[in-house]
Amino acid sequence: MKIAILSRNRNLYSTRRLVEAGHARDHEVHVFDTLKCYMDIATMRPAIYYKGERLEHFDAVIPRIGASITFYGLAVLRQFEMMNTFPLNESVAIGRSRDKLRSLQLLSRKGIGLPITSFAHSVESTEDLIRLVGGAPLVVKLLEGTQGKGVVLAETKKAAESVIDAFRELKADFLVQEFVKEAGGADIRCLVIGQRVVAAMMRQAREGEFRSNLHRGGTASVIKLSPAERSTAVRAARTMGLNVAGVDILRSREGPVVLEVNSSPGLEGIETATHKDIAGMIYRFIETHARPNRTRTRGT
Ligand code: ADP
Ligand code: GLU
Repeated sequence: MKIAILSRNRNLYSTRRLVEAGHARDHEVHVFDTLKCYMDIATMRPAIYYKGERLEHFDAVIPRIGASITFYGLAVLRQFEMMNTFPLNESVAIGRSRDKLRSLQLLSRKGIGLPITSFAHSVESTEDLIRLVGGAPLVVKLLEGTQGKGVVLAETKKAAESVIDAFRELKADFLVQEFVKEAGGADIRCLVIGQRVVAAMMRQAREGEFRSNLHRGGTASVIKLSPAERSTAVRAARTMGLNVAGVDILRSREGPVVLEVNSSPGLEGIETATHKDIAGMIYRFIETHARPNRTRTRGT
């Protein structure tokens, strides 16, 4: 098959692995820098250009769109969809998952376990926001944060009020969340492909830190999931409409709760921890699902 990878940098681990695994399975793989693709949307025949050349038909596209270029990246992906290229993850699904608040609302509607979360705009609501999540300690999160940046643990009500006031002063959107203390600074990354969790790892925060992100010095190890954790991860990915997703889960007293559903999960941490060929599994999914006109939304 002829497959396009949208990635800003072909030297990133995930991109390199996707190229390698594609070649190993005899696919023709092309990497395009998302921001260097440009489009012709004025004609009946949608087209994408790259370095002066018009891209001819691709069977599938693997979007690796970073949060900072979501807007333009999704426009490029939609254009591929309009040209009947099968997207590993659809543009609408990625768009959905990029909005933390919208994601939590969709997941809650499906009855998927979540940490108790509150969100508000006006200043008068600070007291209530704190009360709704059961008081301090609590977590305040910037809506556009990634890699654990913008995630703050407030141990006391006073600290919570200060953080909330500071974020408000900065006019930043944030949410307030119950602190799942019993998770013990560990979260579980479930890699979902199709309707299955194909790999999982536990990430443990370093000493004195509650955020388990690998970027924050967390360490990864393999883990065996409970059936409830498996089904939570699969349902979360399905709710977002993502074929491939990294679902982050905390072990709470009430069972698994979903923190986040990532539409471009990094492969390095999970492949290194589990020694699994996730990139190869992604191609296996594409091989069984990619057919022209398979994009339900067709980018609309
Ligand atoms: P990001 O998208 O920036 O990684 P997350 O919401 O995933 O932000 O939070 C980063 C890390 O902080 C998580 O992986 C988890 O270890 C920890 N964390 C986040 N929210 C909570 C919470 N409500 N209770 C306990 N730990 C949390
Ligand atoms: N972008 C990485 C991922 O989605 C984040 C890794 C981390 O810091 O935990 O897997």
